[in-house]
Formats: sequence, C-alpha cells, structure tokens
Amino acid sequence: MSGISKRTFIASSLALAAAARPLDGLARQSDRKLGYAILGLGYYATQIIMPRFAECEHSRLAALVSGTPEKLKKYGEQYGVPESARYSYEAFDKIAENPDVDIVYVITPNSLHRTFTERAARAGKHVVCEKPMATSSADCEAMIAACKKAGRKLMIGYRSRFQAHNIEAIKLIRDGAIGPVRTVVTDHGFTIGDPKQWRLNRALAGGGSLMDIGIYSLNAARYLTGEEPVAVNAMESTDRSDPRFKEVEDIINFQLLFPSGATANCVSAYSANCNRYRVTGPKGWIEIDPATSYQGQAMRTQLNRQTGPREPAPQPKNQFSAQLDHLSECILTNREPIVGGEEGLKDLRLIEAIYRAAREGRTVRV
Ligand code: NAD
Repeated sequence: MSGISKRTFIASSLALAAAARPLDGLARQSDRKLGYAILGLGYYATQIIMPRFAECEHSRLAALVSGTPEKLKKYGEQYGVPESARYSYEAFDKIAENPDVDIVYVITPNSLHRTFTERAARAGKHVVCEKPMATSSADCEAMIAACKKAGRKLMIGYRSRFQAHNIEAIKLIRDGAIGPVRTVVTDHGFTIGDPKQWRLNRALAGGGSLMDIGIYSLNAARYLTGEEPVAVNAMESTDRSDPRFKEVEDIINFQLLFPSGATANCVSAYSANCNRYRVTGPKGWIEIDPATSYQGQAMRTQLNRQTGPREPAPQPKNQFSAQLDHLSECILTNREPIVGGEEGLKDLRLIEAIYRAAREGRTVRV
C-alpha cells in the first residue's frame, strides 16, 4: 500500500471510530434537542426522513419550508410544527430570526441545493444537503465557502455511512479481514418511470442515473477502499428515442483505479433494478445485496476460508436517525461530520471526470 493510501486508511478509520464513540458528557452540555428545518416536502423528506425524528436523541423537527401551502399545513399539523415555523421559499430567509432552528436540511431537486444551502448559511444555520451535493463541482465549492464564511457546519446526506451492514463492511476491511482491497464490483440502478419528473430534466437534475443512483456505486467504491481514485474510464448506453432519456443518460458504467492498485467496476442505470457490492482481497470477500437501500440489507462473506451469511454488529439507531443525530452531535461537540461538504465535492469532481471519460472515450486522470 502506498504512503498516501495508508494515510487515507488511517484518517477514515479514525473518523469512523469518532462517529461510533458514545457522546461523553453530551447530555450535560445540552439537554435540548437541536431543531431541524426540513426544506422541500417531497417523497424523501416526508416519507423517509421526517418519521425518523421519533427515534432521534439529539434532533427534533422544528420548522418546515415548502412552495406548497397545503403541504405546510398538512405536515405542520401532523408533526406539531407551529404556523410561525412554516415558511414559503420566498419567506425562507426569515428563518434567521427563529432560534428554534439550528439546522436546515435541503431535500429539493439537485440544481437547487446550492442556492438553498447558501441562503441557510447566510441565515446562520448549519446545513445538511442531500446527495448529489450539487450539479457541478464549482457549486459544491461555493457551498463549502458559504458555510465556512458563516462559521456553520455542512453535511451531505450519505446515509449508508450510518447503516449497520455498511459500517461492518468498512470495519472488516480496515481491520484487514480480506487483506488489501483488490476489486470492488458495485451495481446501482432502478427503473425510472414518468418522463416528466425532475430527475429526467437536465436543468434540475444535472445529469441522469449517475447523479441520482450511480453516485452510490461511486461513493461506496471510495468508502470501501478508503482511497481516492487516480484514473477513470466510462461507457454510456442511452436510447435517445425513449421519451425518458431525451435529456439525461440511462446507463453509464465506469471503472476506477486507486493508488494502491485496487480497482472498481461500477454500474449506474435508470432502466434496471440493482443495488449491491462485492469487495475482494487476497484473504476473502464481502458482499452486500441489497447494499444501500432504505432497508433489507443482507451480507455474505468469505473470511478465514469460511463462506456464509453474516449479521453485522447492531447499531443503536437506524441509518436515517443516526445521520440526523450525527450532525447534531457534531454541532454540540464541535466536531466535523464524517460526510462533510468535501465528501460531496470529491464525488462531483469524479462525476465530472466520468462524464468526460464517456464523452471522449478515453481514460481520464484525476
Ligand atoms: P421529490 O420530487 O419527491 O421531492 C422534491 C421536492 O422539491 C418536492 O416537494 C417539490 O415540490 C420540491 N421542489 C422545489 N422546487 C422545485 C422545482 N423547481 N421543481 C421540482 N420540485 C421542486 O424528490 P425526492 O425523491 O424527495 O428527492 C429530493 C432530493 O433528495 C434529491 O436531491 C434526491 O437526490 C435526494 N434523495 C436522497 C435519497 C437518499 O436516500 N439519500 C433518497 C431520495 C432522494
């Protein structure tokens, strides 16, 4: 292993250990739960994230931001968010005057992540922004700068880093259970429907399957190896006569080369259902299928010449509540999130390299 990748291994192992550490004295520092404003009341916000505050120790739902008054009323009443803490997008900047809100969670179409993150930071709030962090690396850089200028923390919604099977896989790899990682094979895709949805609109999504679901293959390859790629290959397959794919790509498969010599073969698709990875080394392998779904993860390993299913060490919270609480804990103890803005920026730089590699039909050095 090279010096650089060893350092990366050590840094990410320390970050993982810090994330898993109990919060010594946190209750003494603050007995108040930090208040979240949820911005964008679509599917992920209302069906997946908002119900999970119930299991949080350090986070609570304090405000709602939406362009639709009916949604503000419906979810405000359902979650007991007072009218004074329900904001339209136009009135959102007034959130600066609401001391109950510590964090704004941006869950809108991708191209709006930058502007809402910047407005939240200017209002003096910490920010969680959904993946992909933005639709360009330049936007990611601006978001990092805005939060830094405001002295506020920025986290990206990479929830798999808080999921038990994924935590177990990373730990096994860092502990050397399979030896140095040699290959990662990972497939992420789903069959997309309505051609009119924002995910198929380039201006709102920034790209196709890679921005939305293939990013899980990319991010997993990075957290499993604990390294940053040095070269990228890619090949796209899109039927432009399909009404869904007038503006964005369907399949884009890519390969990553890491400094240690490890490689990743990654699938990203909007016309096939897949969600898995397999990591191999000289001493064994780890497979999770499904790997990064909302639930139902299943793991198989070959370790010490034994092959079979493996149950990960139990985690105290589900991945969504753990992610919400992680940022609250980081704010309360002044630590940096394990998935901060730099993590989102790294993925966007690689996504740009993957698109370039596919377009130009050549290996792109990064
Ligand atoms: P969605 O379409 O269900 O919700 C999007 C919300 O944004 C809607 O409430 C919509 O009204 C609002 N919106 C505001 N301005 C809009 C505009 N100009 N055009 C269209 N909608 C607008 O989408 P979603 O699935 O909730 O995804 C939202 C974000 O969350 C995306 O960035 C997506 O990548 C991310 N996401 C992450 C996960 C995860 O597991 N981490 C899962 C799903 C979605």
